[in-house]
Amino acid sequence: MLKQTSDRVVIRFLHNIAIALLTMTISVSSTAKPTNEKPITAEQGKSIQHITWPEKQLVAVSLSYDDALDSHLDNALPALNRHGLRASFYLTLASPVVRQRLEEWRAAAKQGHELGNHSLFHGCSKSEDGRDWVADHLDLSQRTITDVVSEIRLANDYLFAIDGKQHRTFTPPCGDIRVVNQQSFLQAIEREFVAIKGYETELGPSFNQLWAPVNVTAEQLIAYVEHEGINGGVINIIFHGVGGDHLSVSTTAHNRFLAYLAKHKNRYWVMDYVSIMEYINGQKSH
Ligand SMILES: [Zn+2]
Repeated sequence: MLKQTSDRVVIRFLHNIAIALLTMTISVSSTAKPTNEKPITAEQGKSIQHITWPEKQLVAVSLSYDDALDSHLDNALPALNRHGLRASFYLTLASPVVRQRLEEWRAAAKQGHELGNHSLFHGCSKSEDGRDWVADHLDLSQRTITDVVSEIRLANDYLFAIDGKQHRTFTPPCGDIRVVNQQSFLQAIEREFVAIKGYETELGPSFNQLWAPVNVTAEQLIAYVEHEGINGGVINIIFHGVGGDHLSVSTTAHNRFLAYLAKHKNRYWVMDYVSIMEYINGQKSH
């Protein structure tokens, strides 16, 4: 029993390292967007370039924290709450950190943060370069749409059991959306979500900016939002570890960045992603 448990810990550790390596690949090309399903045309992008945010801020900022890590609850969440900022936590629901700290995730949702869907098992495509770490049974490129969709739906049910909410968003693990025969599963799940991060193809490119920073300074984070904020739209900053875990950013850099955002609330609308996207949907229907 003990041996089994320690094996599982080792497997989990290797899995986390693998995710770390993988996400590092994403973050190297961090501003590159995943391949979009439908090309964004200039007209489509232009149609809502001029959205007015609730307090006339320059740009919306979605801070997200992926993979259900201890350092999210230990470091990121208290800092967000201190500064009165809301964010999205994309939970990989098979992570033991979900089960072990269930009440803390529930409390985070009650505080106004989003618990987003990041699937149960974090399956990614093994066929991509550097994906040897992906377990065979989780290789997205060999799975069927039915299989993946049922996993994502069950993840939604688990999230509902935690926070009782019916509306949320999804971030595809590794940004991967293609199953066997290169079919995309996005269409099969889009009705389940208010939005799918990185794939809001009906919006302009300035609404789909993604960056997964690793080991950066507060100055780099600040420079990024100052630069990208000029375009308006939505800036998505995808954190993993904060002061620990994988692909981490130090607590110093993270907290100084949050202090900067809080100090400039007139410029940045920092909000959980589901609220940002519901706001946009409300504006579109006017
Ligand atoms: Zn992830």
